[in-house]
Amino acid sequence: MISVLRLGHRPLRDRRITTHVALVARAFGADRMLITEDDKNVFESVKDVVDRWGGDFGIEYVKDWKGYIKTWAGTTVHLTMYGLPVDENISEIRDAGNDILVVVGAEKVPGDVFRYADYNISVGNQPHSEVSALAIFLDRFFKGKELKKEFGGKMEIIPSKNSKMVRHLNEKRRF
Ligand code: SAM
Repeated sequence: MISVLRLGHRPLRDRRITTHVALVARAFGADRMLITEDDKNVFESVKDVVDRWGGDFGIEYVKDWKGYIKTWAGTTVHLTMYGLPVDENISEIRDAGNDILVVVGAEKVPGDVFRYADYNISVGNQPHSEVSALAIFLDRFFKGKELKKEFGGKMEIIPSKNSKMVRHLNEKRRF
């Protein structure tokens, strides 16, 4: 199981990015996201996507993130541009076979996170974003197979060269 802990969410300001972190987590194979603010708006957006597009991705509020990381029984991976290269560590992380807690920040991440994490992992050593870092980490972890995951939602896209094609499943239509 892969959980993503999103630290430092500021309601209003980070709402869009936090929602994108959740959408990437879901679409790229993680099982749930934990956020440190009880932001109803983010919860509703994510639940709406899960309702329409399927899967059992969950989103939960975690008040005490320090306690959560410290007592995590599996492997904790903190994504940071200061960490060790993802490609040199991903096999070890994957092969351990543990539940994984992937921690991503917003602005400045408290120093404790670097100490509590089993791995501080970089996706390149340039600053970019929690959204891109998470996507690439999960893609490396699943070796690209996550893109073929079936979600079994109410609707699914029929890939098309030049139009938007969506199949609505289990929907009775009147013609
Ligand atoms: N300077 C900030 C810091 O102290 O970490 C960077 C904040 S950045 C806008 C938000 C988050 O994106 C970071 O906390 C980290 O999780 C992720 N991130 C940004 N660049 C990254 C990189 N090159 N590798 C891994 N994660 C990165």
